[in-house]
Amino acid sequence: MNYPVKEKLHEVLASLPEGVRLVAISKYHPEDYIMAAYEEGQRVFGESHEQELARKVTALPQDIEWHFIGHLQTNKVKYIAPYISMIEAVDSLKLLREIEKQAAKADRVVKVLLELHIAEEATKYGLTLDACRQLLSEGEWRQMQHVQICGLMMMASFTDDHQQIEQEFQTASDFFDEVKQQYFANDPAFCERSWGMSDDYPLAVQHRSTMVRIGTMIFGPRVY
Ligand SMILES: *Cc1c(COP(=O)(O)O)cnc(C)c1O
Repeated sequence: MNYPVKEKLHEVLASLPEGVRLVAISKYHPEDYIMAAYEEGQRVFGESHEQELARKVTALPQDIEWHFIGHLQTNKVKYIAPYISMIEAVDSLKLLREIEKQAAKADRVVKVLLELHIAEEATKYGLTLDACRQLLSEGEWRQMQHVQICGLMMMASFTDDHQQIEQEFQTASDFFDEVKQQYFANDPAFCERSWGMSDDYPLAVQHRSTMVRIGTMIFGPRVY
């Protein structure tokens, strides 16, 4: 292993205020890197490809909480439903329905976040604010016994313009309040704001992130 994962992990953890949890994004990184972080006490890891995740789940300790952070195709849900702890990037009702169906089969409740598309890049996935409002107002999610909507997730634009990034985080933060008040006021489980990656997490934390998804800063550059 040629990257100081343990040192980097502790640097990142030391920089997070209380109440902000770290999801260590381990996609494309080898298992010994994950174990190095695990040995330091890290238990929450994020992956974005179903097959890579399946391999790692079999090889690594059972008490790891895996978050699926990538774009998830509905036909892949059945593979991860038996063990996934949280699916962070739910971007359609169709996907939510499939998670409900597969989680029911596995006799589990799967935690999910609704992914917002706020960034200007067309390449990013997620629900526009209006699409998210519509999904929630239609109300089908209320009948779902095997998914628990725990909050919102988003990725800011990939840019050096701090002001733009901050604006996007602020939009997400305000939208969280709107939705919390309108639909989840009596649901303490709806509390997560997953924003912030290696390059922008200090700004995300200033804009009320509760969960940062950090890969490169802990594990180094990904080798594709
Ligand atoms: C890869 C990825 C991250 C981590 O990005 P880094 O820049 O390596 O910290 C966070 N969130 C999502 C959705 C990702 O795909």
